[in-house]
Amino acid sequence: MYQHLRIALEHAQERLQYRQEQSNIRRRRRKTIEICSTTVAQDPVTTYDNPKEKGSNDHLEMIQQLSTDPEETSDIDADFDLISLEEDTIELPSGLNSYCEVPFDDQDEPLVLDDLFPPNNNQNSSYLHSHTTIKTHDFCGQLIEIFRDANISNIHCSRFLRVINGVLPQPHNSPTTLKALYNSMQGVPTRSGVNYKLVVYGLTGDCPAIKLATKHVNHQGYWCCWFCYIQGIHIDNKRQYYFQNELVLRSTTEYAHYSEKAERTNKNIFGHLGVSPLATVFNIPLPRCLIIDYMHVSLLRHTRTVIQYLYQKYLKPKQRNELDELFRHQPFPHFCNRKMRPVKEFSATELRNMLLYGLLPLIRSFLPVDLAAHLSLYVTAMRLLHGPRKLGDDTEIVANELMNAYYKDHQLFYTNIQHFVLHLHCHLADQYYLHGSLSNLGVFGQESLLGHFAKSRHGTPMTSRRQVVPRHVFTPTQRTPPPSHYLLVFEDTNSYQIAARSSIKQITGDVVSIMIRNKLVKAKAVCHGSLEDCNAEYVRLTRVSQNETDEHDDVDSENDKLTIDDWPMNDVNVYSKPASSNCLSSTVSSSPILTSIQSPRQISDKGDQNVQIDKAENIRMNSKNSNILEDIDNRVDELSEKFVSTSSKIDQQMQRLSTKIDRFASTVNINKHAIESYIDKSGEHFPSEYMFGEINLLDVMATDYGDYARQILQIIYTSDELKNSILPPGKPHLARPPLAKDRFKKFLEAVRYKYKLDSINFGLFYRGLLRRKLTDFLIEERRREPLKQTRQSLKQSQAQRTSQSNFDETFG
Ligand SMILES: [Zn+2]
Repeated sequence: MYQHLRIALEHAQERLQYRQEQSNIRRRRRKTIEICSTTVAQDPVTTYDNPKEKGSNDHLEMIQQLSTDPEETSDIDADFDLISLEEDTIELPSGLNSYCEVPFDDQDEPLVLDDLFPPNNNQNSSYLHSHTTIKTHDFCGQLIEIFRDANISNIHCSRFLRVINGVLPQPHNSPTTLKALYNSMQGVPTRSGVNYKLVVYGLTGDCPAIKLATKHVNHQGYWCCWFCYIQGIHIDNKRQYYFQNELVLRSTTEYAHYSEKAERTNKNIFGHLGVSPLATVFNIPLPRCLIIDYMHVSLLRHTRTVIQYLYQKYLKPKQRNELDELFRHQPFPHFCNRKMRPVKEFSATELRNMLLYGLLPLIRSFLPVDLAAHLSLYVTAMRLLHGPRKLGDDTEIVANELMNAYYKDHQLFYTNIQHFVLHLHCHLADQYYLHGSLSNLGVFGQESLLGHFAKSRHGTPMTSRRQVVPRHVFTPTQRTPPPSHYLLVFEDTNSYQIAARSSIKQITGDVVSIMIRNKLVKAKAVCHGSLEDCNAEYVRLTRVSQNETDEHDDVDSENDKLTIDDWPMNDVNVYSKPASSNCLSSTVSSSPILTSIQSPRQISDKGDQNVQIDKAENIRMNSKNSNILEDIDNRVDELSEKFVSTSSKIDQQMQRLSTKIDRFASTVNINKHAIESYIDKSGEHFPSEYMFGEINLLDVMATDYGDYARQILQIIYTSDELKNSILPPGKPHLARPPLAKDRFKKFLEAVRYKYKLDSINFGLFYRGLLRRKLTDFLIEERRREPLKQTRQSLKQSQAQRTSQSNFDETFG
């Protein structure tokens, strides 16, 4: 199905056959030399009897038998192999030159050199040459080790090998090429006893990567296609690659030839800049081993360019938004893991889903018919190439026809975007034939692998969004119960807080997230455990921090002092100089007097804090101008002022608060409990009727005595009286007259009867509770009337207006 795999297999079979032929030739020659060797080496001939007997066996058995050869005959064997090497290179069917400077000759050379150091052959344990005791195998091992440690390029390694080969006496066993050198080490069995052979099938990547790997011109140059000879045209500062009916493909030999020529002449020959350093590595020759990465070429480049072009040139802004909305809300199977996104937010996977599934149906209504039809050619071709062989053997042929039709008419709809990537689509059919469908290729997996590497190396920059914190599940079998409380430090404000576990949103290591006033704040958990533990730790920490701040203050004052001390130094102040220098350098002072004062104290108190205090005192003692004392006095004054001002403020606030509380308490008492103490307990008989005119005042319903009193007043007095009067007894200097006294007495009686109040304490009740309510009521009555009037006047005016309009409508 995939031709190149078949080619590779055939290639390998050919190699095997060739190797068998080689070994047969060698065996035949060995037989002839054996006759000579018996005369030269004078060794027992018995060892050579076996190969003679089993001459008709295959070469593998032959090699096993050869491995039993004694070392004594190795000289001759080595001599022979060199001879065979020279002869075999001439016999090569490809007819290429045998000199090893041309790298692509290496492809054929190892076929022979493999035989020089066949795997599992004792030949490698032969001496390097006849004048040394070092074994070829050891030499090769050392050489490879040196090459690897030196970290030098293959070219330099080859040069070293050439130099070594040049100085060694002839004949010798040293390998002449790098590949032979590495092959010589393949005879070493691995720990598992299995020899692995790597087959490099191909190379894929984005265009710049392939350009570098193949030493080709970049994707904007002339002759930049790796597969064919398309030159490209320079238009508008860009290379454009228009459709060509017949593509002239580069053959493998042409490719090798031109790249070699370019390497030699250091010129650009049909886009070749040199021989690819990977040419020797590939088991399939260039350019057939190159695989177009459809993720980069089709999805990220061409599809994106085309969609953006359509957006800019064919769609109006409103249509763009509509299309974006369509993409955003397009339902999509959940197993695709991705939804479609609007055009602005594309990545490769979304582009694939869009190209293969969503683009054509959704964009159809926005585009002219011919443009949509043209676009459908591309989409259909890509769908054919992406999936399995839907049309059997014709799949890639049909896809190629569609693609060619699309490419041919591309200029009609799109100008200036006939890029190299569009040209590469012509070769996708070949790729499909050689390597299989596009869904199997592409570097999606490799990209994510690389992304994983990059992420692991640098650490993800988006921890908040991507980091998955596993949920902690606490079970009864767990040894340590989770802490109930945490002591948190807010580093911004340097403040402490104890928080219960339930109020903490998230705990990752030491960092704790907690919600404070609807804001997620991060804090550091210093201590966790029970509430008592946290409290104790909190007390300890605050004490420590206080000490620290004290020390800091000391240091600050010291620094202040030093800066202050520096400027009067210009005055002839003999004592301040050594003092200040002492403080700057260390606690050990050069002045003998000072040390004598200091030393006993330092011995008595050993705490650092005390040393600090000593320092401060030391400075104070030595400062002649006593700036510090003044400074401290000033600060204390400031402090006391502040304290006084704040305390007075606090006093005021407390007073206000107490009055408020008093008021609040009084209102509460009046409503609920106050009246109980005035209720009659002597068993006085209260009448059930108390008439005013025709109204029984005791039948008036009310919520409480205040409400009742108001209603009664409204019954007894007219509204004018209530408005213009005050409570009896009136005073002559007041402008308003009191309410009529006889009716007021009746009112009081009604209240007393209604609530069955004690006649003796009624005066107290009236003065303490009722009178305030009544005065309030009267004041309200005065205010209420003008409000009512204004409201009424408004209503009236509105009514008048509506009636006027009605009148106009009916009669106008
Ligand atoms: Zn091409």
